Amino acid sequence: MTTLLDTIISRIRANGPMRLDDYMTTCMLHPTLGYYTTRDPFGTHGDFVTAPEVSQMFGELIGLCLAQTWLSQGAPARFTLAELGPGRGTLMADLLRAVQKVPGFVEAAEIVLIEASPTLRDIQSATLNGHSPRWVETPEDLDDQPLYLVANEFFDALPIRQFVRDKEGWRERLISHSNGALSFGLGPRLPQSALDDRLDDTADGDLIEDCPPLTGYMRPISHRIATFGGAALIIDYGDWRSLGDTLQALQDHKPTTPLIAPGHCDLTAHVDFEKLALAAAPAKHSRVTPQGVFLERLGITQRAQALAKAMSGTALETHIAAHRRLTHPSEMGNLFKVMGLYPPTQPPLPGLEP
Ligand code: SAH
Repeated sequence: MTTLLDTIISRIRANGPMRLDDYMTTCMLHPTLGYYTTRDPFGTHGDFVTAPEVSQMFGELIGLCLAQTWLSQGAPARFTLAELGPGRGTLMADLLRAVQKVPGFVEAAEIVLIEASPTLRDIQSATLNGHSPRWVETPEDLDDQPLYLVANEFFDALPIRQFVRDKEGWRERLISHSNGALSFGLGPRLPQSALDDRLDDTADGDLIEDCPPLTGYMRPISHRIATFGGAALIIDYGDWRSLGDTLQALQDHKPTTPLIAPGHCDLTAHVDFEKLALAAAPAKHSRVTPQGVFLERLGITQRAQALAKAMSGTALETHIAAHRRLTHPSEMGNLFKVMGLYPPTQPPLPGLEP
């Protein structure tokens, strides 16, 4: 049987060294051999655990944050409730359960999911049974109406390009092969006008990353929020302005090398929040806030205590560990950041500052 490695090597033979974004897209979303297309990678038996899979509190608090924003924007009678890259659908299910208590919210919501993997679409459909979500390809397909959107660990899954600086400019990291194995090399020096702004804060040998599809996902979202109202919560690992190689491969919860087993490991890169902020106009964006701080401001400790009352034994221990995992600075609390988008005429979402 042809493996994804064979497929990639024959493409390199035919077309020359492969760009990293092309490699990542092939590894993650190849129609029959891609990582997301062929499996459910989440949870203790998968390759990684995301915040909604750690605890129901995550989706619940995001739901209440969006519902409070909807109320303070005058509770529009029809709106899109969207999620980018919903994984197993756990976050959306927890969100919808929590907002049942907000009169009118669920009735006014049209649930729309943006998901590339047919396998995960099926799982989302089962998780959200009874809520009739609709799937679209890109945020361009969202209706012209108020938009409340969440994206957790979506942007880190988008493909990136990497460039290394030398005295004369930028050279792109490209993938070639020898003896059946893949390796990184550097392409020719080419003018990269999009990287001119990074000449001032980088030196010879520095590596920077660019995520070409980021702006295309952000623009339609920002435009809808600025024009029709709504808000977005983007949660991911990363920081302000990319510097250094952040490409990561994960298999069975363990780091591995990104070129070793194409299609069998999760590939991600840190999100450059500066790029998200630049693409936020004409909507406004909040300050980038650590996930732990954001969840504490939304009342995760009170929610954790309320849930703990009905628990004992290992369930209680797991619950306490989950609270710590989501919020503690040495776990997910600081590595993960939150940015909110909101209309220029409105205050930022609860838990966030302008
Ligand atoms: N938000 C979920 C899953 C994060 S993993 C959670 O927190 O558990 C990334 C998700 O984005 C997966 O559902 C993956 O299939 C989806 N995805 C990755 N690239 C995509 C793309 N280009 N378009 C749509 N969905 C994509």
